Amino acid sequence: MKGVSIIGATGSIGRQTLDIIAHHPDKLRVVGLTAGRDFEALSELAFRWRPKLVAFFDLNLAEAIKGKFDCPVLFGIEGLTEVATHPDAEIVVVAIPTAKALLPTLAALKAGKRVALATKEVLVSGGHLIVQQLKQSGELLPIDSEHSALFQCLQGEDVSKVDKLILTASGGPFRTKPLEDLKRVSVEEALAHPTWKMGAKVTVDSATLMNKGLEIIEARWLFGISPERIEVVVHPQSIVHSLVEFVDGSVKAQLSLPDMRLPIQYALLYPERHPCPVQRLELTKVGTMNFEPPDEVRFPCLRLAKQAAKVGGTMPTVMNAADEIAVNAFLRRQIGFMDIPAIVEAVMERHCPIAEPSLETVWEVDDWSRNLTSELIRKFVAS
Ligand code: MG
Repeated sequence: MKGVSIIGATGSIGRQTLDIIAHHPDKLRVVGLTAGRDFEALSELAFRWRPKLVAFFDLNLAEAIKGKFDCPVLFGIEGLTEVATHPDAEIVVVAIPTAKALLPTLAALKAGKRVALATKEVLVSGGHLIVQQLKQSGELLPIDSEHSALFQCLQGEDVSKVDKLILTASGGPFRTKPLEDLKRVSVEEALAHPTWKMGAKVTVDSATLMNKGLEIIEARWLFGISPERIEVVVHPQSIVHSLVEFVDGSVKAQLSLPDMRLPIQYALLYPERHPCPVQRLELTKVGTMNFEPPDEVRFPCLRLAKQAAKVGGTMPTVMNAADEIAVNAFLRRQIGFMDIPAIVEAVMERHCPIAEPSLETVWEVDDWSRNLTSELIRKFVAS
């Protein structure tokens, strides 16, 4: 029986993790749960799951949550870190859409835990720090469906015999939209993902292909493969979740219907396989699968992410922070869809990257990028 703490329990990945735990009551149990600020949702989950402690990222909730929980309640990034390092938790699921998850992730690894990582921003901003920590203690398993696919394809293989990694992308809701129309797409259209149900930030990132760019950087740290050897192919059906090509030309892929509960269960129960409550893939029902090259003219975020991956150092942090602010401005209808890459690129152009940054430098640069992006958006809105 393994104890599980979930950083980001009320989100899409958090809830699907709880569903997997519910299906394996003999193997998994809940230890700690966290939320951003949604205390009603977390209090419902706490009532159902009886965690040993809960935490909120928002520091200002003390008054609002009085009497709502039977267990200790903590706050802020320190609270999340307490949940991530609780002695009864062997596995920590990290699933909050921000690079701030880097701190609880590093702490969990330091405490020797298995981290099942959904937050790609952790590796985008602090990949080198995570890799350093993993040499000392802890274990890192991907929950991102593409990276779970690569991880599964690499079982029993020698990573030095990998020629390239091929990440599949659904192409998002605007895969076939002409450039002119992309300038006018609405928030609702961007949030209507054709194959995956996810949180708002990652859904918009999927529509711009920034998500795939972040996944290149994520894969680079997870598998120790240089970004130049990580390719992206658009596959609208989201059945092939990614592929590994070996030096002999053989290609392995992992296939299933798109359902995050499969990669979540694989990360929680690895190396064991057990029945999973997902619908089975029937190839004859799928019929046809298509593959096409990504278009970096209509989706410049992919080009920017490749550039950031190549430059390395603090550049991915700058890009990711700028993207987060720009996506929020798009969701608030302050800027258009194609303004997201334009603003991100403007911020990246103003940054002098620092190699091998410390944690402090990562936060400083992250703040710098957020402030500059907000300033550029203010000017943009005013003009
Ligand atoms: Mg993914």
